[in-house]
Amino acid sequence: MAFLDRTARSFLLTELIGGLGVTLRYMFKPKATINYPYEKGHLSPRFRGEHALRRYPNGEERCIACKLCEAVCPAEAITIEAEPRDDGSRRTTRYDIDMTKCIYCGLCEEACPVDAIVEGPNYEFATETREELMYDKDKLLANGDRWESVLARRLELDAPYR
Ligand code: SF4
Ligand code: SF4
Repeated sequence: MAFLDRTARSFLLTELIGGLGVTLRYMFKPKATINYPYEKGHLSPRFRGEHALRRYPNGEERCIACKLCEAVCPAEAITIEAEPRDDGSRRTTRYDIDMTKCIYCGLCEEACPVDAIVEGPNYEFATETREELMYDKDKLLANGDRWESVLARRLELDAPYR
């Protein structure tokens, strides 16, 4: 019986027709795929990507060198050195993140009392060498300057849930 059934299906091409039917049905549905990198998918405001150090609108660094982010980092990826400035304010002289150690847990961002260190929306920072993933303060501040409008908007959207 099974032999007859298989033979009949082979002659009538039922499986082929069924397959073509599935193709036809999906041809007219919205596409589930995107044409990356020309199209990008939606990112949550909580997406944890490349780090950035933010400034206040007057250009002053937000970071007050409290070292909470360094203390909380489970991967020990952050290294901070600090000293008081002439005006008595405390600022970092060194702020490094070893991005090869970072596990993108977001604890540094959560610990920061002044929203200075944040994880931004950028996930396109693959490099060819390890050295390029040793971020220093200049690199982190440059990231902050580049992404500030997006970062501020993301923090605003996430604020009701923090
Ligand atoms: S995201 Fe987590 S692992 Fe990465 S630097 Fe921040 S605290 Fe450390
Ligand atoms: S980034 Fe935030 S938590 Fe880290 S040292 Fe600066 S102020 Fe403190």
